[in-house]
Amino acid sequence: MNGDFNTVNSFHSLKCPTCNGDCILPAEKVLDDLLSMYMACSQCPPDPMLVKNVPISEKIDNNSGKCPGCRKRHLDFVIGNVLTILKEKGLFPHDAALREVGTPLISFGYRIPYTPRLKDKTLVLIMDSVTKGIARQIVENVPEVKGVIKRKGMQSQSIGILDTNSSPHTYELLFGCDMRCDVVSSLFGELCIYKNQSFIHIEFNNTKIIKMEELYLNGELEHSVVVDGFCGPGTLGLLCVLAGAKKVILNDAWLPAIKNTILNIKANSALLGVKINFEKADYDKLIADEPVLLARAEGKSEVLVYHGDIRKLDMAIKGSDICLIDTFPSVDPGRFMAACKDIARRIIII
Ligand SMILES: [Zn+2]
Ligand SMILES: [Zn+2]
Repeated sequence: MNGDFNTVNSFHSLKCPTCNGDCILPAEKVLDDLLSMYMACSQCPPDPMLVKNVPISEKIDNNSGKCPGCRKRHLDFVIGNVLTILKEKGLFPHDAALREVGTPLISFGYRIPYTPRLKDKTLVLIMDSVTKGIARQIVENVPEVKGVIKRKGMQSQSIGILDTNSSPHTYELLFGCDMRCDVVSSLFGELCIYKNQSFIHIEFNNTKIIKMEELYLNGELEHSVVVDGFCGPGTLGLLCVLAGAKKVILNDAWLPAIKNTILNIKANSALLGVKINFEKADYDKLIADEPVLLARAEGKSEVLVYHGDIRKLDMAIKGSDICLIDTFPSVDPGRFMAACKDIARRIIII
């Protein structure tokens, strides 16, 4: 997952670290395109009106439902195409329904009040029942699907590490690319947060953003020094940069999350008003111990990215204004409070 360190600030060369393709668009480009990205054009065929929990008997191939104008397809046709393959391979029974296929995640995720119509390579599928060979056939034969991920364990089990003593729980990328982004909207601006979806927790709720907005409205983020102690792909810490923090320290113990954080600083560089001027190359320790500085960006704010165990982060960071603690739902954030008392004057559980 090492990026190209010589071209970190050139968007044209921001290649996807997973597939080396064009999965990573600069955030301002994504936001410009977002309104029309999944919309029907005037030539698009009407909604197929397939019922997701009722078996469908018709065969759906990779041309079914394709718009002659914009070349997009309604999501149900795409999933129906996948389901037809699963039935033909004998993996699913003939009476299987669309909803049994898996969890579809659009590659530029944001809330839209209608079912999306998809261009090529704009869907990551998370599936429970699939083999490597069939995943390959899906990616090669269903043009809209860019990657197939196999879910491991319960749907409720978080992806990543709970703390530095636990072993990582990850999904498996079977074929294609698992890189996608979620557009995060807040009172003080928007960001595109990219993530390797087989390594990073899938986030659906908006309550954390609302808490950040409360901090912002209380004047606690502007000109302050903020530590995002469990930063994941960087969402909350980078929002603090947008909100006008003087300095933001992003930290996580899980290397895939930190690699995504650094990628997100690059992809959102224009919106954040910062540029990366240091990045540590050739680093591959998966789970952190003592903090190691992996990247620094400067501009409107100073941004430091550490790979470290939160319980040892005070070796590098002391006396900040705020430390945000955002653990997985199954972890009691209270147990990290004592460890954070030297890092920041105020500890906020998000
Ligand atoms: Zn990719
Ligand atoms: Zn169309």
